[in-house]
Amino acid sequence: METKMCVLDETKECDGCMECEVCDLDPSKICDNCGKCLNLPDVVSIKIDDVILDPNDPRAKELTKKR
Ligand code: SF4
Ligand code: SF4
Repeated sequence: METKMCVLDETKECDGCMECEVCDLDPSKICDNCGKCLNLPDVVSIKIDDVILDPNDPRAKELTKKR
């Protein structure tokens, strides 16, 4: 069985102490992935390269194949 090393101290093996699961903002809490420490904005955007409207466009067929 492969040994798992500690993510906080690479010189020791993981002993399951859970220290790496403690919230960065509230040491009395286990992280529940609330995202508050990430300072994410209320609105985010993504950049798109193109919009394919024609279902017969070869690029559309290529995308359908990948799903
Ligand atoms: S549980 Fe403890 S020993 Fe294991 S990776 Fe997390 S902090 Fe390290
Ligand atoms: S995601 Fe939330 S719970 Fe986890 S460390 Fe960040 S603030 Fe704490």
